[in-house]
Amino acid sequence: MDYYAPPLATLIEHFESLPSIGHKTACRLAFHMLSQPLDKSVSFADALIQAKQNVHYCNECQNLTDKEICNICASAKRDLSTICVVESPRDVISMEKTNEYDGLYHVLHGAISPMEGITPEMIKVKELLPRITPKVSEVILATNPNIEGEATAMYIAKLIKPLGVKVTRISSGIPVGSDIEYADQITLTRALEGRREMI
Ligand code: ZN
Repeated sequence: MDYYAPPLATLIEHFESLPSIGHKTACRLAFHMLSQPLDKSVSFADALIQAKQNVHYCNECQNLTDKEICNICASAKRDLSTICVVESPRDVISMEKTNEYDGLYHVLHGAISPMEGITPEMIKVKELLPRITPKVSEVILATNPNIEGEATAMYIAKLIKPLGVKVTRISSGIPVGSDIEYADQITLTRALEGRREMI
């Protein structure tokens, strides 16, 4: 890093700390930022701070929002009797893009992984329990079809079935080991339609 002026080296280091950004890309981004007018950098930095300060978890579903309750939970058009449990806010976007689901969501922000030391207490499982009211007739477990996602679905099914709610798991139309986030809309729609009750 000695070749770079210290402020530039710091900028490169910050870009390099981001996921999927290697040293070459970090350098390219840093040089690009430097070539831009100052007001562009100011608005970029401001967008980062604004997002960080104003985006938080929805009080109901734990999805990301800048309000107390997110737009989906607050919508009068949603079916309040169904909750679809997903691992990440990005999965909500994928599900919404199918235009096939009009229920509510619950975002776990992760999956149970004994290998990585992620326990049920470290994801938003306990926040799901008070949401299983008599109004809710079905909980769809749409965690990813990999070891962690399956383990998480099994754990939640065991936890909430005694509450008398129907618990379903999306079908394995999505290739095993892949992510809901990257499934195309047709595959995801089929997986949703082909969901089965967990017994
Ligand atoms: Zn919400």
